[in-house]
Amino acid sequence: MSPRWSLVCSACDREETPPARLATLCATCGAPWLVHLAELPEPTVKRALEARSWSLWRYREWLPIAGSEDPVSLGEGGTPLLPASRLGREFGLQHLLIKDESQNPTGSFKARGMAAAVTRARYDGATALTTPTAGNAGVALSAYGRRAGIPVTVFAPRGTPPRILEQIRTFGADLEEVEGHIGDCGVRARHHAAERGAFDVSTLREPYRIEGKKTMGLEIAEQLGWRFPDVVVYPAGGGTGLIGMWLAFRDLLRAGWVQGTPPRLYVVQSRGCAPVVRAFHSGSDHTDPWPDPDTAAVGLRVPSPLGGKLMLQALRDTGGGAVAVPEPDIAWGMERMTSAEAVDAGPEGGATVAALKELVHAGRVEPGHTVVLFNTGAGWLYRVP
Ligand SMILES: *Cc1c(COP(=O)(O)O)cnc(C)c1O
Repeated sequence: MSPRWSLVCSACDREETPPARLATLCATCGAPWLVHLAELPEPTVKRALEARSWSLWRYREWLPIAGSEDPVSLGEGGTPLLPASRLGREFGLQHLLIKDESQNPTGSFKARGMAAAVTRARYDGATALTTPTAGNAGVALSAYGRRAGIPVTVFAPRGTPPRILEQIRTFGADLEEVEGHIGDCGVRARHHAAERGAFDVSTLREPYRIEGKKTMGLEIAEQLGWRFPDVVVYPAGGGTGLIGMWLAFRDLLRAGWVQGTPPRLYVVQSRGCAPVVRAFHSGSDHTDPWPDPDTAAVGLRVPSPLGGKLMLQALRDTGGGAVAVPEPDIAWGMERMTSAEAVDAGPEGGATVAALKELVHAGRVEPGHTVVLFNTGAGWLYRVP
């Protein structure tokens, strides 16, 4: 049987069929791989979905997994797309929705990517796993590694919220706190991987986390009755979720599952670390490293994302844009999301409310548009115990 998917380089023409085991970056040019399904699922598969439970594995025809394979799962995905009518009224919007990813196992959408990555890594024979993290990726890898029975080492910046560090330890990973930001942690993780034979599942160095996160796009479309929203507002750091949804919406259209125009994608970052926003507005096709990244939204504290080029492509391809919000507005946005809608907003989710305010003000969002804000992680993980 021919393989269900191959790996295609996001920058050069190289294709790997069958995909290399424990694949990292393209051997020709060093750019990230993207998964290419040999065949997109037929629209008739929609009917089969109805009988399946609400985890991301309900979309297994869309995912790089063999028919007989058991995923490493904690029930990730299937999060609610909540109407936010009170918050919507504050902005004059009739169809505002919140995709509440804080309801994932481990309290953030990092669960989706890690479920997919650890599933493939276990199948490919990984004996140890490692990742640099701004926080939530470390919690998720610690939990999914434990679930798979594979030891995990996590590198996190000193100053990561204490509850996040506590959760990483709770699921049993070795935790090393590093002076610096996630880029510095990445250097340590790569060193550890080379020395100990651990597989490094850093954002976009490993092709399957994007695949787990693309299910957010599939879910939103299904939850809207196989329609696209008009606008998605997404707090981006490394970019896996943005790139994954971009590809999902594109493929839903190609496969004939959804008609219409894929949503405009908007990236939100903090003014304390906004490499993607700066590159978008300067017309650049790549991001330049952001000096001294500083924001309470730790998931957005990624000064030099490997997926910078792909994020910029996603924004331009969909006619979206990029907003850098002032740091104090992030706390304001968290408070608004939590008090208006009872969603336990993390700072990254709060940033989307602050960005929405700017988008409405600039006339980029209109009253009748269907707009999806992302609450990517739970607020409780960030509060001081
Ligand atoms: C990692 C993270 C982000 C950024 O996600 P990417 O898809 O890698 O850009 C946003 N919010 C939270 C809570 C995160 O943990």
